[in-house]
Amino acid sequence: MTIVIERLAEGPTPPDTANATWPNVLHTTIADVMAQMGQPPWSRRIIADERQLVTLIASPPGGGNRPHWHRDFDEWWVVLGGRLEWELTGGIVLQARKDDIVWVPRGTVHHIRNVGAELSLRLAVAMPPAMHYYSPCEQCGYADEGAREWCA
Ligand SMILES: [Zn+2]
Repeated sequence: MTIVIERLAEGPTPPDTANATWPNVLHTTIADVMAQMGQPPWSRRIIADERQLVTLIASPPGGGNRPHWHRDFDEWWVVLGGRLEWELTGGIVLQARKDDIVWVPRGTVHHIRNVGAELSLRLAVAMPPAMHYYSPCEQCGYADEGAREWCA
């Protein structure tokens, strides 16, 4: 697989491609995103370019993603709030809270759930085109509920 970078900077330039709203805003305050998005669940793409997709994801208690895996990139998250659990291929279970970083290599199914009593917030870093391969979660018996936007 080849990543094609079509727009190259020719030298130092002011940030003329920055947007007024997400994605690709010069300065993001998470409280602003939360106020705009309202009640969870939601996800908001914060940064997007040829090499990275950064998404802020809010899940209510008991909420989470659809178990899936990625063929061609490793994914990682920064937990910004709440208590989250990652259930991984092979029966590995990680719990993480605010200020924790979780990394999952390509090929590993990740089922992420908010296991706390509060809203959870996580910043997901993936790579475009971020194809998701959904699979049932053998360890937890998760049943597929259909398409969702917020599957990081
Ligand atoms: Zn993923």
